[in-house]
Amino acid sequence: MTRVVQKFGGSSVADAASIKRVARRIAATKQAGNDVVVVISAMGDTTDDLMDLALEVSPPPAPRELDMLLPPGERQSAALLAMALSDLGIPARSYTGSQAGVITTAAHGNARIIDITPGRIEKSLEAGDVVIVAGFQGVSQTTKDVTTLGRGASDTTAVALASSLGADFCEIYSDVDGVFTADPRIITGARRIPEISYEEMLEMAACGAKILHLRCVEYARREDVPVHVRSSFSDKPGTWVKDLADITKGSDMEAAIITGVSHDRSEAKITVAGIPAAVGRAAQIFDIVARADINIDMIVQNASRVMNGRTDLSFTLPLSDGPTAVHALTAAKDEIGYEQILYNDQIGKVSVVGVGMRSPPGVTSTFFRALADSGINLQMISTSEIRISVVVDADQVDEAVRVAHTAFGL
Ligand code: ASP
Ligand code: MG
Repeated sequence: MTRVVQKFGGSSVADAASIKRVARRIAATKQAGNDVVVVISAMGDTTDDLMDLALEVSPPPAPRELDMLLPPGERQSAALLAMALSDLGIPARSYTGSQAGVITTAAHGNARIIDITPGRIEKSLEAGDVVIVAGFQGVSQTTKDVTTLGRGASDTTAVALASSLGADFCEIYSDVDGVFTADPRIITGARRIPEISYEEMLEMAACGAKILHLRCVEYARREDVPVHVRSSFSDKPGTWVKDLADITKGSDMEAAIITGVSHDRSEAKITVAGIPAAVGRAAQIFDIVARADINIDMIVQNASRVMNGRTDLSFTLPLSDGPTAVHALTAAKDEIGYEQILYNDQIGKVSVVGVGMRSPPGVTSTFFRALADSGINLQMISTSEIRISVVVDADQVDEAVRVAHTAFGL
């Protein structure tokens, strides 16, 4: 018997009719003879609405109370789905994250799954139920408080459950058909990628592809859980995210140099200019940023100028953290001894990703030549073994995606 975990996103269960539609889909999987565990998100914009409410009542809301407020969104859709399945003659039971044994750290709003003790779920499956688990939530091992795993983290719940239940694979249903070679809103001819490795998906998720939660892909890679990303509105196959060794041999994807182009408009750039070139200044700067609990992405430091021994350092960070970082660094101006801070929130990051770029030379030059021919200036560059990312002007992001997509024949 195949054991499947299916996750449905908020847009797939936005109202009563969609809940019934999803129930029919789950019923079909169950009737085909599978063991089915479903992880469900809150209906439509429920989580956003609850967040707005909290911000209105008490800005900024207390993290512990926020974690009491949000999880009922998922419980609501889980319970409704269980009712809809029962009406179809399929026995179903809904569980909260804590009832399902999702044990986490105590970090409210951003807890990590430490362990899953799926005893109750196993019993329910043995009894023949379709098991429905409220996504995105768990219970802290130490404080016993309800926790949430971060926005969009129902994906992570699904993969973690798939791993602990020994499921054959995990299906993530949303309103898009899979992972594409670029955002179809920018490239009309973008193609669905039938299979992609965990590593490539990680890079794409970290570079703006919003289809899967980053932590979910990390989890899937670590536990080797194949993930099928597909649409809940059709029966078409989507994209399989799996181990590189399991990618179909001789497929187009295996031969391609670049698997996909992703872009991200959610970052800003800070330049700390005229820093005295002395040991420890960069450490000092990033200490300040880290103490503000800000995660940075790309960093570029220039060689110091011969005339005055000073240097400039630029880095990117989430747009929403920009003002906080500028404030913290401005407060430390004398301490660090820099000349000025420049803040630019009109940037975008464009990345080409593919395991196929590991060996052949010339991938970087192809990418940069294509950008140069379109008059696109590169503000920052960073690379990994399977990714090249550039920061460009926000106005040129779409064009950069288009020329990269064409240059690599995608
Ligand atoms: N409902 C939560 C959110 O919107 C979790 C999820 O959908 O994955 O972030
Ligand atoms: Mg959601």
